[in-house]
Amino acid sequence: MNTIAVIGAGTMGNGIAHVFAQKGYKVNLIDVSKAFLDKGVTTIAKNLDRMISKERITEADKKATLANIDPYTQLAEGVTNVDLVVEAATENIETKLHIFRELDALCEAHVVLASNTSSISITQIGAVTQRPDKVIGMHFMNPVPVMQLVEIIRGYSTSDEVTQKIMELSKALGKTPTEVNDYPGFVANRILMPMINEAIETLFHGVAGVNEIDTVMKLGMAHPMGPLQLADFIGLDVCLSILHVMYDGFKNPKYAPCPLLVNMVAAGKLGVKSGEGFYDYSASRKAEKVAAQFN
Ligand code: NAD
Repeated sequence: MNTIAVIGAGTMGNGIAHVFAQKGYKVNLIDVSKAFLDKGVTTIAKNLDRMISKERITEADKKATLANIDPYTQLAEGVTNVDLVVEAATENIETKLHIFRELDALCEAHVVLASNTSSISITQIGAVTQRPDKVIGMHFMNPVPVMQLVEIIRGYSTSDEVTQKIMELSKALGKTPTEVNDYPGFVANRILMPMINEAIETLFHGVAGVNEIDTVMKLGMAHPMGPLQLADFIGLDVCLSILHVMYDGFKNPKYAPCPLLVNMVAAGKLGVKSGEGFYDYSASRKAEKVAAQFN
């Protein structure tokens, strides 16, 4: 595999593009507008600068990495002659089904179509294509250049051959792939999101403040980041979407999103990406400091 298309240049898409490009793959980065693409490439450049300042890479590495990334606003152009597509668009089932229908029509039959979805059924995504055996979950963790895990999700029809290929590719990226089956939230978010939701409920019920809740989990459980800060970092809209998928998928009230989370998303308080969530990131460029904690 030499050329990869990455769909979505947001939080995850730019990280995925960064990692592939740094390993020498040609990356076609696709988003709906030039503004989103510019923001994504600027983020990649900043993250590469941070790696240079930590003496992990050189200026030449940065140049080579950025040279491997080509931005596209048209899906049809961006997926021409690629060997793999990694979709990292908004966590919305209609958006993803629409993209995969289009990808199936545009890409040659051998092309593997992967989704970075946090929770949406790979089986359902695969079923809207003529190649469900070549549809797979490739769930990178945030921030992608730093986090080791890739959760590899086998849909009902995903073939052994494709699973093996994507496991090997993840290893070639320097990551540790872990194979799981396709049920709502898979493994990572099935365990993580109830914890984040419970932290929000704890705040909602006035048991403790934001700092106190995060401090308990950081110092008491040795978590590198408190659950509310982590929710800001993931994106509160993404957290809400994942909880909806699990609530709908299991019909179990334990996954019902906390009303405070619902309200914050409705008010546009999405966390780091909007400048405010449980913490305020706007005034002091705290967002970058949060990201720097991982590097
Ligand atoms: P985001 O909102 O930061 O970025 C999504 C990007 O997709 C936006 O730039 C948007 O313009 C673009 N997009 C939407 N529709 C598109 C289309 N039709 N074609 C091309 N681009 C399109 O979201 P994110 O946090 O990067 O999440 C992306 C995916 O990764 C989701 O499926 C999410 O569940 C998953 N994910 C997120 C995290 C996280 O921590 N944020 C972690 C793992 C997985």
